[in-house]
Amino acid sequence: MMNDCIFCKIVNGEIPANFVYSDEDVAVFRDVNPQAPTHLLVIPKQHIASSAAVDKDSGVWDKLLGCAVKIARELNLEEDGYRMVINTGSQGGQTVPHLHLHLLAGRNLGWPPG
Ligand code: 5GP
Ligand code: ZN
Repeated sequence: MMNDCIFCKIVNGEIPANFVYSDEDVAVFRDVNPQAPTHLLVIPKQHIASSAAVDKDSGVWDKLLGCAVKIARELNLEEDGYRMVINTGSQGGQTVPHLHLHLLAGRNLGWPPG
């Protein structure tokens, strides 16, 4: 838990969020500024600053990606499709320094991004 981290505060209930899923390791909640009809954030409960800080043996990727795919299936997003995005660092567009995976769906998402 990092004291001044927004997402750590969401995990511990200090800041409210619209949760879709939560277990021991992972939380999923709606983005406060949605960029698509469905815009969820999938995060590890443990504070990890970015994808660059993930310990390769930790199982974090397995949990985050596995959770995102499962939620996408449960929300019936598979037929029309969805996008998973992890912004990393300043040029990558990361604004919150707590690892998070964006799960976006519900409209035609453009490519290339940004
Ligand atoms: P990034 O730009 O770091 O990839 O994504 C950060 C995301 O967190 C943005 O899409 C932003 O809208 C979202 N966000 C920032 N603060 C809050 C908050 O307090 N609550 C929720 N639910 N989302 C937030
Ligand atoms: Zn944090």
